Amino acid sequence: MSDIRIQGLSKYYIEPKSQTGIVALDNIHLQIPAKQITWIQGPSGCGKTTLLKILAGLLPPDEGQIYLGQVDITNQPANLRSMALVTQNYTLYPHMTIFDNIAYPLKQAKTPVEEIKQRVNDIASWFNLEILLSRKPKVLSGGQQQKVAIARALIKFPDIILMDEPFANLDTPNALHLLSIIRTLQAQTHATLVIVSHHIDHLTVSGDFLVEMDNGEMIRTTSIGDTDV
Ligand code: ADP
Ligand code: MG
Repeated sequence: MSDIRIQGLSKYYIEPKSQTGIVALDNIHLQIPAKQITWIQGPSGCGKTTLLKILAGLLPPDEGQIYLGQVDITNQPANLRSMALVTQNYTLYPHMTIFDNIAYPLKQAKTPVEEIKQRVNDIASWFNLEILLSRKPKVLSGGQQQKVAIARALIKFPDIILMDEPFANLDTPNALHLLSIIRTLQAQTHATLVIVSHHIDHLTVSGDFLVEMDNGEMIRTTSIGDTDV
């Protein structure tokens, strides 16, 4: 796994009503370290979601490049990137059981049935979802649904995991619990994790990387060391 290098990335939108231009990302330069957790913080509207969508290949940038190591992946289709994006307004498939929701990416990839069972059961046990596997999403709490959405994103063990406000609907104890599961998984799989969050004060630890954005610009990066915690 290699660092993600973002060079001169810009993205513009047209505001539909007024037809005025919006600079969502303004010449971002950033290196996201491999196999670590990077936190992206900044006020609402500063471009965090836009950045994640461009990294995931779901939105083309207007200017700039993204490299994985030495490889330019700017125009690589999303399905060829070993990346998973957990969106802010994640949607589970309401008519499917929790098992089938988590298994969905593996079924799409035509994974053998026995392997699907094994992998879904493994990841369900990490997230304490075992007893919920036969249920439908609507009977789960918001926190449980969030865990299912994350389990579904992780089921193919992507190299890079992008999470947009994964703790937004959780209280602090539940956020900390979910983060401890995510950290354990990250330590085992050595994935590169990028997490957008408003509430990072209690969540970061030594070894994490912090990116602060404002108004489409990257204003500061900090490697969190022992002295900062
Ligand atoms: P954040 O995730 O930090 O809240 P976003 O990336 O969602 O920020 O948005 C950055 C800016 O781009 C905001 O001003 C937002 O209103 C605007 N924006 C986002 N998506 C669109 C879109 N599809 N069309 C027009 N403007 C958009
Ligand atoms: Mg957002």
